[in-house]
Amino acid sequence: MSNGFFSYPKPLNEPVLNYRAGSNERNEVLATYKNMYSNPVTVPLYIGEEKIVTEKRANMAPPHDHKHVLGTYSLAEKAHIEDAITAALAVKSKWESMSFEHRASIFLKAADLIAGPYRAKINASTMLAQSKNIFQAEIDAACEFADFLRFGVAFAADIYAQQPIQGEGVINRLEYRALEGFVYAITPFNFTAIAGNICAAPALMGNVIVWKPSDHQMLSAKVIMDIFEEAGVPAGVINLVSGDPVLISDIVLAHKNFAGLHFTGSTEVFKNLWTQIGNNLSTYQNYPRVVGETGGKDFIFAHHTADISTVITAITRGGYEYQGQKCSAASRIYLPASIADAIITGVIENIKCFSIGSPEDMNNFITAVIHEKSFDKLVHYIEQAKQDADVEVLAGGSYDKSAGYFVHPTLLKTTNPHYTTMETELFGPVVTVYIYEDSEWETTLELVNTTSEYALTGAIIAQDRVFIENASKKLRHAAGNFYINDKPSGAVVGQQPFGGSRASGTNDKAGSALNLLRWVSPRLIKETLVPATDYRYPCMD
Ligand code: NAD
Repeated sequence: MSNGFFSYPKPLNEPVLNYRAGSNERNEVLATYKNMYSNPVTVPLYIGEEKIVTEKRANMAPPHDHKHVLGTYSLAEKAHIEDAITAALAVKSKWESMSFEHRASIFLKAADLIAGPYRAKINASTMLAQSKNIFQAEIDAACEFADFLRFGVAFAADIYAQQPIQGEGVINRLEYRALEGFVYAITPFNFTAIAGNICAAPALMGNVIVWKPSDHQMLSAKVIMDIFEEAGVPAGVINLVSGDPVLISDIVLAHKNFAGLHFTGSTEVFKNLWTQIGNNLSTYQNYPRVVGETGGKDFIFAHHTADISTVITAITRGGYEYQGQKCSAASRIYLPASIADAIITGVIENIKCFSIGSPEDMNNFITAVIHEKSFDKLVHYIEQAKQDADVEVLAGGSYDKSAGYFVHPTLLKTTNPHYTTMETELFGPVVTVYIYEDSEWETTLELVNTTSEYALTGAIIAQDRVFIENASKKLRHAAGNFYINDKPSGAVVGQQPFGGSRASGTNDKAGSALNLLRWVSPRLIKETLVPATDYRYPCMD
């Protein structure tokens, strides 16, 4: 215990740099991009003190230039995975006993490294690995990641300060212990910040981690590990094992000391993992914490009083930024008949203006989708839409994977509110519009609420306050992040804690104290100063 109650800097959101032509930040990130493009790297496994380059490795390639090799990453085998668990457990006691101010300093230093000397590197690696344009990389890899860490420290300090009341002659203390065991972190391709935070959040609370990153984020995963190491995260606290997710999960989830899953990815994978955990329950020393943020089928509902330009911009940004590969991306749109044509015309005009290509060209708004499987899936839905009688392709509909996985942003219009692209998460730049009669807004809201299994994000756009109040109530459970007169994407740490319910996840709100609370197991300590020495109570005299 330290001799002092320390306070921490009030966190502020990291300012987003603008990368205008000629700016220092633009020159620096482009030079770093070129350097990383031309100098292949090998990503090892990080197991305790060791960095192991395996014989069997897989290639890393930019989605927008898939014939180019950026390097290789290591593929873990059974023994590596067991070693990673052993390495985590070996440092557990030391790490959870380290005073919070030192754990806090480590992650605050990591945030300053991200915002400072590593900014160009983490952005460039995200542009290359995940095909993000510079704006998307900056708001994710630099700003959101730094925000997660800085706000995390402030939330953790608040949690530790929450203590029970004291009784007469009694001192009550709540000690926020780390979980007993290790945490398994599984991360998606689409946000470098999410990958980093899924490891950092439990680690900040004193937990040790076995991390399995996405195969499609390995270049930026390496930069995350470099930053953690330089910031002073001790070896063994965060162990990275890449490779076959089924092999890794089978070993990790069968371990007695598995204490929690911190997952972000698709719904089906999460459901399978939870089932596996349930089946192994009698193996574990503790009931594991299961935290998962998963898929979405996010909506925009415009009322006939909506401002038309607001709707056009919300669909354009919310639906197509990062090629629709945000869990929060708008993909089903409900438009009132009286203003639908004007909105659709505006969106089509925007789509026609999109510049598409490599993120190295900073004019590009649209880059490639993540991999061939995603490309092929999107092509399947687009081709099906061209044939189906109840849907019309209004814009886009073309694609090309010869050099990179490019899918032209596509706008569909359907007369069937249950058409497959209104219900299924495609995770790409395909947006479907359904038009309703202005007077039927109330029944259409019911449709919004019941169409999809998901409940992640959604937006309503209107000027009419009575409608806004009604819709907010009717859609209470339709979205964990609900937006009024805005797009449903772009949550900022500290401002809009993020997560959804129903099939979208456990809604533990990444970037808030609610998430950090899942990684502690409080111990109540009651100390009696002058203990009783007679079992009888006064009424017995
Ligand atoms: P994914 O489910 O394909 O992969 C996520 C992670 O799970 C990867 O590390 C992958 O290797 C691993 N994985 C895959 N199969 C597995 C298995 N059988 N066992 C164990 N692990 C397995 O998802 P993705 O394509 O990387 O990311 C896109 C998905 O993530 C979308 O559904 C999106 O909505 C969701 N997502 C949700 C949020 C959120 O906050 N709700 C945020 C980002 C992404």
